Amino acid sequence: MRILVIEDEPKVAKALKQGLEGEHYDVAVASTGEEGFFRLNSETFDLLILDLMLPGRDGLEILATARQRGLATPVLILTAKDAVEDRVIGLDAGADDYLVKPFAFAELLARIRALVRRGRTDHVLRLKAADLDMDLVTRAVTRAGEPLELTPREFELLEYLMRHHRQVVSREMLARDVWKEMSRATPLDNVIDVHVARLRKKVDQGRPTKLIHTVRGVGFVLREEKA
Ligand code: CA
Repeated sequence: MRILVIEDEPKVAKALKQGLEGEHYDVAVASTGEEGFFRLNSETFDLLILDLMLPGRDGLEILATARQRGLATPVLILTAKDAVEDRVIGLDAGADDYLVKPFAFAELLARIRALVRRGRTDHVLRLKAADLDMDLVTRAVTRAGEPLELTPREFELLEYLMRHHRQVVSREMLARDVWKEMSRATPLDNVIDVHVARLRKKVDQGRPTKLIHTVRGVGFVLREEKA
């Protein structure tokens, strides 16, 4: 978990770095807006802690520009005491949360954990395609809110199809990426077809909109089609 701290006050920056490293976060510190912006564009971070009052390029400008360029990293802004307007502007500019200086370190840690959890739920640990919803942590799968009972192999197969929503997936791709077998004496095609058939039954049986389709001579695709 990598955190970029953009903070110009050496004392605050040092305290943040030491405290966060003590919690086993990997911390990079930039002491000017320019340096911070450069690092944000050239490296990958899981979280940005951004002081708004910076010399040169200020925090709000950095935040607004980074969001315009598509930065999805969660951002926690630090604002001076009573600068209510800054907070509002900061949230409008794309910050996820804010903390007013001076703050208790425990409070900062709690906010960081919440942001990281939220970010993961939204972006990485949950897949959605059509009315299917897959939780990659609990491995719960629902269609239109109703739970589907899948075997581990069916789960992997559906995850692959969902990650390739509306794209045709060949049997070779499934053999390589789901079954993880490049070559073997007996082709996997029949095995794959049987698993897809079982999965399709669980996902589509009795529903007006079918999701799993065979593309003749090529493979399969997950997309919405009326029966
Ligand atoms: Ca400052």
